[in-house]
Amino acid sequence: MSAKNMRENRAIKAVLEKRVKCVKVKIGTSEIKFFIVESSNKEKMYVVLPGLYCSCPDFLFSVRFREQGEKCYHMMAVEIAVKEKRYVEIEIDKENLLDRIIYTFLGRLETLSKAR
Ligand SMILES: [Zn+2]
Repeated sequence: MSAKNMRENRAIKAVLEKRVKCVKVKIGTSEIKFFIVESSNKEKMYVVLPGLYCSCPDFLFSVRFREQGEKCYHMMAVEIAVKEKRYVEIEIDKENLLDRIIYTFLGRLETLSKAR
């Protein structure tokens, strides 16, 4: 199987397992939206800007550095989820968001929540 097909399969699986989330954040009177995709073991989550960027290592190393395809499977998952309207919507306030962002960039939800 090609790398592209493997990514596609993982993307479809992520959508079916409801691991694609659209996060809405209310900041004062305005609202921002972005997507996250949970890893298959749900220990990590990655921020996805559709068609542009994903915070996972595969995007950084395979897609950007080695130029193996244009998207990681998280980006594909978001595209499929948007097309099929099969993402989970989450609303979050600003404080929670900032906590989540820190976890996301460190990539280790589990460890951090235990340390609190
Ligand atoms: Zn990714």
